[in-house]
Amino acid sequence: MSCLTIRAVETTLLDLPIRRPHHFATVTIDRQSVLLVRLRTAEGIDGLGEAVTPGGPWWGGESVEGIKATIDGYLAPLLVGEDACRITALLGAMDRVVAGNPFAKAAVEMALFDAKGKALGVPVYELLGGLVHASIPVTWALAAGDQQRDIAEAEEKLVHGEHAAFKLKMGELEPAADVRRVGAIARALAPRASVRVDLNSAWSEATAMRWLPALEEAGVELVEQPIPRWNLDGMARLAAAHRVAIMADESLGSVQDAWEIARRAAADVFALKLHKSGGIQNVTKIAAIAEATGIPCYGGASLETSIGTAAAAHVFATLPQLTEGCELFGPLWLADDLVEEPVAYRDGRLCVPQGPGLGVQLDEQQVRRYTREREAAPTR
Ligand code: MN
Repeated sequence: MSCLTIRAVETTLLDLPIRRPHHFATVTIDRQSVLLVRLRTAEGIDGLGEAVTPGGPWWGGESVEGIKATIDGYLAPLLVGEDACRITALLGAMDRVVAGNPFAKAAVEMALFDAKGKALGVPVYELLGGLVHASIPVTWALAAGDQQRDIAEAEEKLVHGEHAAFKLKMGELEPAADVRRVGAIARALAPRASVRVDLNSAWSEATAMRWLPALEEAGVELVEQPIPRWNLDGMARLAAAHRVAIMADESLGSVQDAWEIARRAAADVFALKLHKSGGIQNVTKIAAIAEATGIPCYGGASLETSIGTAAAAHVFATLPQLTEGCELFGPLWLADDLVEEPVAYRDGRLCVPQGPGLGVQLDEQQVRRYTREREAAPTR
Protein backbone atom coordinates (compact mmCIF):
# COMPACT_ATOMS: atom_id res chain seq x y z
CA MET A 1 0.00 0.00 0.00
CA SER A 2 1.01 3.58 -0.36
CA CYS A 3 2.46 5.24 2.66
CA LEU A 4 0.79 7.27 5.37
CA THR A 5 3.00 10.28 6.06
CA ILE A 6 3.07 11.46 9.67
CA ARG A 7 2.48 15.21 9.82
CA ALA A 8 2.29 15.74 13.59
CA VAL A 9 2.04 13.89 16.89
CA GLU A 10 -0.07 15.87 19.35
CA THR A 11 -0.39 15.10 23.04
CA THR A 12 -3.02 16.29 25.53
CA LEU A 13 -3.15 15.74 29.30
CA LEU A 14 -6.60 15.00 30.71
CA ASP A 15 -8.03 14.17 34.12
CA LEU A 16 -11.10 11.93 34.21
CA PRO A 17 -13.47 11.34 37.12
CA ILE A 18 -13.83 7.80 38.50
CA ARG A 19 -16.79 6.04 40.10
CA ARG A 20 -15.09 5.32 43.43
CA PRO A 21 -11.62 5.86 44.92
CA HIS A 22 -9.27 2.99 44.09
CA HIS A 23 -6.89 1.63 46.74
CA PHE A 24 -3.50 0.26 45.75
CA ALA A 25 -0.84 -0.98 48.20
CA THR A 26 0.90 2.41 48.31
CA VAL A 27 -1.50 5.00 46.86
CA THR A 28 -5.21 5.75 46.65
CA ILE A 29 -6.54 7.62 43.61
CA ASP A 30 -9.74 9.61 43.15
CA ARG A 31 -9.34 10.43 39.46
CA GLN A 32 -7.47 9.01 36.49
CA SER A 33 -5.02 11.03 34.44
CA VAL A 34 -4.70 10.24 30.75
CA LEU A 35 -2.30 11.33 28.03
CA LEU A 36 -4.11 11.38 24.69
CA VAL A 37 -1.98 10.95 21.56
CA ARG A 38 -3.26 12.16 18.21
CA LEU A 39 -1.16 11.18 15.24
CA ARG A 40 -1.98 13.33 12.21
CA THR A 41 -1.11 12.17 8.71
CA ALA A 42 -0.79 14.08 5.44
CA GLU A 43 -3.52 11.81 4.02
CA GLY A 44 -6.02 13.13 6.59
CA ILE A 45 -6.23 9.95 8.67
CA ASP A 46 -5.68 10.42 12.42
CA GLY A 47 -4.43 7.71 14.75
CA LEU A 48 -5.49 7.66 18.40
CA GLY A 49 -3.34 6.51 21.27
CA GLU A 50 -3.52 6.72 25.02
CA ALA A 51 -1.01 6.48 27.84
CA VAL A 52 -2.22 5.84 31.37
CA THR A 53 -0.54 4.50 34.45
CA PRO A 54 -2.36 2.68 37.25
CA GLY A 55 -2.53 5.78 39.42
CA GLY A 56 0.83 7.46 38.91
CA PRO A 57 4.56 6.76 38.75
CA TRP A 58 4.58 4.37 41.73
CA TRP A 59 3.85 1.43 39.42
CA GLY A 60 6.59 1.61 36.82
CA GLY A 61 8.35 4.95 37.15
CA GLU A 62 6.59 6.69 34.28
CA SER A 63 3.95 9.40 34.83
CA VAL A 64 1.58 10.92 32.27
CA GLU A 65 3.46 14.23 32.64
CA GLY A 66 6.81 12.55 31.95
CA ILE A 67 5.33 10.56 29.06
CA LYS A 68 4.10 13.82 27.49
CA ALA A 69 7.59 15.33 27.76
CA THR A 70 9.17 12.20 26.23
CA ILE A 71 6.77 12.09 23.30
CA ASP A 72 6.79 15.85 22.62
CA GLY A 73 10.54 16.31 22.99
CA TYR A 74 12.03 13.09 21.66
CA LEU A 75 9.60 10.74 19.91
CA ALA A 76 7.41 13.14 17.90
CA PRO A 77 10.35 14.86 16.15
CA LEU A 78 11.69 11.57 14.81
CA LEU A 79 8.24 10.39 13.67
CA VAL A 80 7.24 13.46 11.66
CA GLY A 81 7.77 12.87 7.94
CA GLU A 82 7.95 9.08 8.37
CA ASP A 83 5.56 6.41 7.08
CA ALA A 84 3.08 5.47 9.83
CA CYS A 85 2.63 2.01 8.30
CA ARG A 86 6.22 0.98 9.07
CA ILE A 87 5.41 0.31 12.71
CA THR A 88 8.24 -2.12 13.50
CA ALA A 89 10.85 0.15 11.92
CA LEU A 90 9.51 3.17 13.81
CA LEU A 91 9.64 1.28 17.13
CA GLY A 92 13.27 0.50 16.41
CA ALA A 93 13.94 4.17 15.66
CA MET A 94 12.26 5.18 18.94
CA ASP A 95 14.36 2.65 20.87
CA ARG A 96 17.54 4.14 19.44
CA VAL A 97 16.62 7.64 20.69
CA VAL A 98 14.85 6.81 23.99
CA ALA A 99 15.74 3.87 26.23
CA GLY A 100 12.98 2.34 28.35
CA ASN A 101 9.79 4.43 28.64
CA PRO A 102 7.53 1.59 27.45
CA PHE A 103 4.33 3.44 28.40
CA ALA A 104 5.22 6.35 26.09
CA LYS A 105 6.14 4.02 23.23
CA ALA A 106 2.99 1.94 23.68
CA ALA A 107 0.84 5.07 23.36
CA VAL A 108 2.57 6.04 20.11
CA GLU A 109 2.45 2.50 18.72
CA MET A 110 -1.30 2.36 19.50
CA ALA A 111 -1.82 5.50 17.37
CA LEU A 112 0.26 4.00 14.53
CA PHE A 113 -1.87 0.83 14.55
CA ASP A 114 -5.08 2.88 14.64
CA ALA A 115 -3.99 4.97 11.67
CA LYS A 116 -2.84 1.94 9.67
CA GLY A 117 -6.04 0.02 10.37
CA LYS A 118 -8.15 3.01 9.34
CA ALA A 119 -6.09 3.47 6.16
CA LEU A 120 -6.63 -0.19 5.24
CA GLY A 121 -10.26 -0.18 6.41
CA VAL A 122 -9.74 -3.09 8.83
CA PRO A 123 -9.84 -3.52 12.62
CA VAL A 124 -6.41 -3.74 14.28
CA TYR A 125 -7.00 -7.41 15.13
CA GLU A 126 -7.02 -8.17 11.40
CA LEU A 127 -3.44 -6.85 11.26
CA LEU A 128 -2.52 -9.34 14.00
CA GLY A 129 -3.79 -12.61 12.57
CA GLY A 130 -7.51 -12.19 13.17
CA LEU A 131 -9.90 -12.94 16.00
CA VAL A 132 -9.52 -15.94 18.27
CA HIS A 133 -11.89 -14.54 20.92
CA ALA A 134 -14.83 -12.30 19.90
CA SER A 135 -15.25 -11.30 23.55
CA ILE A 136 -13.16 -11.71 26.70
CA PRO A 137 -14.36 -12.36 30.29
CA VAL A 138 -13.59 -9.40 32.55
CA THR A 139 -12.38 -9.62 36.15
CA TRP A 140 -13.71 -6.85 38.37
CA ALA A 141 -11.37 -5.18 40.88
CA LEU A 142 -12.60 -4.85 44.44
CA ALA A 143 -10.58 -1.93 45.76
CA ALA A 144 -12.99 0.15 47.81
CA GLY A 145 -10.69 -0.31 50.81
CA ASP A 146 -13.47 -1.68 53.04
CA GLN A 147 -14.41 -5.31 53.56
CA GLN A 148 -18.19 -4.89 53.69
CA ARG A 149 -18.25 -2.49 50.75
CA ASP A 150 -16.09 -4.89 48.71
CA ILE A 151 -18.40 -7.83 49.43
CA ALA A 152 -21.50 -5.74 48.69
CA GLU A 153 -19.98 -4.55 45.41
CA ALA A 154 -19.12 -8.14 44.42
CA GLU A 155 -22.59 -9.43 45.36
CA GLU A 156 -24.17 -6.77 43.18
CA LYS A 157 -21.97 -7.76 40.23
CA LEU A 158 -22.78 -11.46 40.78
CA VAL A 159 -26.52 -10.85 41.05
CA HIS A 160 -26.50 -8.93 37.80
CA GLY A 161 -24.37 -11.59 36.12
CA GLU A 162 -21.82 -8.94 35.27
CA HIS A 163 -18.61 -10.49 36.57
CA ALA A 164 -17.70 -13.95 37.87
CA ALA A 165 -14.08 -13.20 38.77
CA PHE A 166 -12.84 -10.63 41.27
CA LYS A 167 -9.43 -9.22 41.99
CA LEU A 168 -8.63 -7.80 45.39
CA LYS A 169 -5.85 -5.35 46.00
CA MET A 170 -3.69 -6.17 49.04
CA GLY A 171 -0.71 -4.63 50.77
CA GLU A 172 -2.19 -1.55 52.42
CA LEU A 173 -2.57 -3.31 55.80
CA GLU A 174 -0.28 -5.44 57.96
CA PRO A 175 -0.14 -8.98 56.51
CA ALA A 176 -2.17 -10.64 59.30
CA ALA A 177 -5.01 -8.10 59.11
CA ASP A 178 -4.87 -8.05 55.31
CA VAL A 179 -5.11 -11.85 55.06
CA ARG A 180 -8.04 -11.82 57.54
CA ARG A 181 -9.84 -9.18 55.44
CA VAL A 182 -9.23 -10.93 52.12
CA GLY A 183 -9.94 -14.33 53.62
CA ALA A 184 -13.37 -13.14 54.76
CA ILE A 185 -14.17 -11.74 51.32
CA ALA A 186 -12.85 -14.84 49.54
CA ARG A 187 -14.89 -17.16 51.80
CA ALA A 188 -18.00 -15.10 51.07
CA LEU A 189 -17.45 -15.24 47.30
CA ALA A 190 -15.18 -18.17 46.45
CA PRO A 191 -17.84 -20.84 46.00
CA ARG A 192 -19.58 -18.72 43.35
CA ALA A 193 -16.75 -16.69 41.88
CA SER A 194 -13.05 -16.81 41.13
CA VAL A 195 -11.14 -14.69 43.65
CA ARG A 196 -7.66 -13.40 42.87
CA VAL A 197 -5.41 -11.01 44.77
CA ASP A 198 -2.75 -8.51 43.74
CA LEU A 199 -0.02 -7.58 46.25
CA ASN A 200 1.73 -5.12 43.94
CA SER A 201 5.11 -6.23 45.37
CA ALA A 202 4.10 -5.41 48.96
CA TRP A 203 5.47 -8.51 50.69
CA SER A 204 8.90 -9.97 51.29
CA GLU A 205 9.51 -13.54 50.22
CA ALA A 206 9.40 -14.68 53.86
CA THR A 207 6.05 -12.94 54.42
CA ALA A 208 4.66 -14.52 51.25
CA MET A 209 5.91 -17.97 52.29
CA ARG A 210 4.11 -17.55 55.60
CA TRP A 211 0.77 -16.20 54.37
CA LEU A 212 0.12 -17.76 50.96
CA PRO A 213 -1.25 -20.98 52.50
CA ALA A 214 -3.90 -18.96 54.37
CA LEU A 215 -4.98 -17.27 51.14
CA GLU A 216 -5.11 -20.62 49.39
CA GLU A 217 -7.14 -22.02 52.28
CA ALA A 218 -9.67 -19.20 51.90
CA GLY A 219 -10.18 -20.10 48.25
CA VAL A 220 -7.97 -17.54 46.52
CA GLU A 221 -7.04 -18.95 43.10
CA LEU A 222 -4.27 -16.68 42.00
CA VAL A 223 -1.75 -14.36 43.66
CA GLU A 224 -0.38 -11.54 41.55
CA GLN A 225 3.11 -10.13 42.11
CA PRO A 226 3.40 -10.93 45.84
CA ILE A 227 7.04 -9.77 46.07
CA PRO A 228 9.27 -7.11 44.45
CA ARG A 229 9.68 -7.17 40.68
CA TRP A 230 13.41 -7.93 40.74
CA ASN A 231 13.14 -11.04 42.94
CA LEU A 232 12.64 -13.68 40.26
CA ASP A 233 14.37 -16.38 42.28
CA GLY A 234 11.95 -15.64 45.13
CA MET A 235 9.00 -15.80 42.74
CA ALA A 236 10.26 -19.20 41.52
CA ARG A 237 10.53 -20.49 45.10
CA LEU A 238 6.99 -19.29 45.87
CA ALA A 239 5.61 -20.86 42.70
CA ALA A 240 7.31 -24.15 43.54
CA ALA A 241 6.21 -24.16 47.19
CA HIS A 242 2.51 -23.34 46.82
CA ARG A 243 -0.42 -24.72 44.87
CA VAL A 244 -2.00 -21.30 44.44
CA ALA A 245 -0.98 -19.83 41.06
CA ILE A 246 1.61 -17.04 41.10
CA MET A 247 1.21 -14.39 38.41
CA ALA A 248 3.98 -12.06 37.26
CA ASP A 249 2.92 -8.46 36.60
CA GLU A 250 5.55 -5.89 37.63
CA SER A 251 8.27 -8.52 37.04
CA LEU A 252 7.12 -8.92 33.45
CA GLY A 253 7.79 -5.85 31.31
CA SER A 254 10.01 -6.54 28.33
CA VAL A 255 10.18 -9.53 26.01
CA GLN A 256 13.49 -10.37 27.72
CA ASP A 257 11.75 -10.34 31.12
CA ALA A 258 9.25 -12.87 29.78
CA TRP A 259 12.03 -15.19 28.68
CA GLU A 260 13.85 -14.84 32.01
CA ILE A 261 10.68 -15.57 34.03
CA ALA A 262 9.84 -18.57 31.86
CA ARG A 263 13.42 -19.88 32.01
CA ARG A 264 13.49 -19.65 35.82
CA ALA A 265 9.89 -20.90 36.27
CA ALA A 266 9.28 -17.68 38.23
CA ALA A 267 5.53 -17.52 37.50
CA ASP A 268 2.60 -19.81 36.75
CA VAL A 269 0.72 -17.11 34.79
CA PHE A 270 1.78 -14.06 32.75
CA ALA A 271 -0.11 -10.77 33.14
CA LEU A 272 0.07 -9.17 29.70
CA LYS A 273 -0.24 -5.39 29.45
CA LEU A 274 0.29 -3.05 26.54
CA HIS A 275 1.85 -0.15 28.37
CA LYS A 276 4.38 -1.90 30.60
CA SER A 277 5.67 -3.89 27.62
CA GLY A 278 5.86 -1.05 25.11
CA GLY A 279 2.87 -1.95 22.97
CA ILE A 280 0.92 -4.43 20.92
CA GLN A 281 3.81 -6.08 19.08
CA ASN A 282 5.77 -6.77 22.25
CA VAL A 283 2.68 -8.33 23.83
CA THR A 284 2.44 -10.77 20.92
CA LYS A 285 6.13 -11.65 21.35
CA ILE A 286 5.64 -12.25 25.09
CA ALA A 287 2.62 -14.42 24.29
CA ALA A 288 4.84 -16.47 21.98
CA ILE A 289 7.24 -17.13 24.87
CA ALA A 290 4.23 -18.11 26.99
CA GLU A 291 3.15 -20.51 24.27
CA ALA A 292 6.61 -22.01 23.97
CA THR A 293 6.84 -22.61 27.71
CA GLY A 294 3.23 -23.55 28.50
CA ILE A 295 2.41 -20.47 30.59
CA PRO A 296 -1.22 -19.28 30.45
CA CYS A 297 -1.85 -15.54 29.97
CA TYR A 298 -4.13 -12.99 31.59
CA GLY A 299 -5.05 -9.68 29.98
CA GLY A 300 -3.92 -6.98 32.38
CA ALA A 301 -4.91 -3.33 32.36
CA SER A 302 -3.58 0.05 33.42
CA LEU A 303 -7.08 1.54 33.97
CA GLU A 304 -7.47 2.78 30.39
CA THR A 305 -10.34 4.68 28.77
CA SER A 306 -12.11 3.08 25.80
CA ILE A 307 -9.14 3.99 23.57
CA GLY A 308 -6.50 1.96 25.42
CA THR A 309 -9.06 -0.70 26.31
CA ALA A 310 -9.89 -1.14 22.62
CA ALA A 311 -6.18 -1.44 21.75
CA ALA A 312 -5.64 -4.09 24.41
CA ALA A 313 -8.80 -5.93 23.36
CA HIS A 314 -7.60 -6.08 19.74
CA VAL A 315 -4.36 -7.82 20.64
CA PHE A 316 -5.73 -10.01 23.48
CA ALA A 317 -8.48 -11.20 21.13
CA THR A 318 -5.87 -12.66 18.78
CA LEU A 319 -4.04 -14.74 21.42
CA PRO A 320 -4.99 -18.42 21.97
CA GLN A 321 -2.69 -18.27 25.05
CA LEU A 322 -5.06 -15.78 26.72
CA THR A 323 -7.00 -18.34 28.74
CA GLU A 324 -7.34 -16.52 32.07
CA GLY A 325 -9.62 -13.66 31.00
CA CYS A 326 -8.78 -10.00 31.37
CA GLU A 327 -9.22 -7.01 33.65
CA LEU A 328 -10.05 -4.44 30.99
CA PHE A 329 -12.68 -2.80 33.19
CA GLY A 330 -11.32 0.76 32.88
CA PRO A 331 -14.34 2.16 31.00
CA LEU A 332 -16.71 0.69 33.63
CA TRP A 333 -14.70 2.17 36.50
CA LEU A 334 -14.23 5.60 34.94
CA ALA A 335 -17.20 7.92 35.40
CA ASP A 336 -16.82 9.23 31.84
CA ASP A 337 -15.02 8.45 28.58
CA LEU A 338 -13.31 10.16 25.65
CA VAL A 339 -15.02 8.45 22.73
CA GLU A 340 -18.40 8.79 21.06
CA GLU A 341 -19.35 5.18 21.71
CA PRO A 342 -17.51 3.53 24.63
CA VAL A 343 -16.45 -0.11 24.26
CA ALA A 344 -19.29 -2.52 24.97
CA TYR A 345 -19.60 -5.12 27.73
CA ARG A 346 -22.08 -7.96 27.72
CA ASP A 347 -22.64 -10.63 30.41
CA GLY A 348 -19.33 -9.83 32.11
CA ARG A 349 -17.38 -9.91 28.85
CA LEU A 350 -15.72 -7.18 26.85
CA CYS A 351 -16.81 -7.19 23.21
CA VAL A 352 -13.93 -6.58 20.82
CA PRO A 353 -14.64 -3.36 18.83
CA GLN A 354 -15.37 -3.98 15.16
CA GLY A 355 -14.66 -0.76 13.23
CA PRO A 356 -11.48 0.11 11.28
CA GLY A 357 -8.37 0.75 13.38
CA LEU A 358 -9.13 0.61 17.09
CA GLY A 359 -12.84 0.94 16.27
CA VAL A 360 -13.44 3.98 18.51
CA GLN A 361 -14.09 7.63 17.58
CA LEU A 362 -12.77 10.49 19.66
CA ASP A 363 -15.39 12.82 21.15
CA GLU A 364 -13.78 16.28 20.83
CA GLN A 365 -16.24 17.79 23.27
CA GLN A 366 -15.20 15.31 25.95
CA VAL A 367 -11.55 16.06 25.23
CA ARG A 368 -12.16 19.79 25.76
CA ARG A 369 -14.13 19.07 28.91
CA TYR A 370 -11.41 17.04 30.63
CA THR A 371 -8.21 18.64 29.29
CA ARG A 372 -5.96 19.68 32.18
CA GLU A 373 -6.08 23.45 32.34
CA ARG A 374 -2.49 24.23 33.15
CA GLU A 375 0.54 22.53 34.51
CA ALA A 376 -0.60 22.18 38.11
CA ALA A 377 1.69 20.23 40.42
CA PRO A 378 1.15 16.63 39.36
CA THR A 379 -0.58 14.50 41.94
CA ARG A 380 -0.56 11.22 40.05
MN1 MN B 1 -0.98 -6.00 39.02
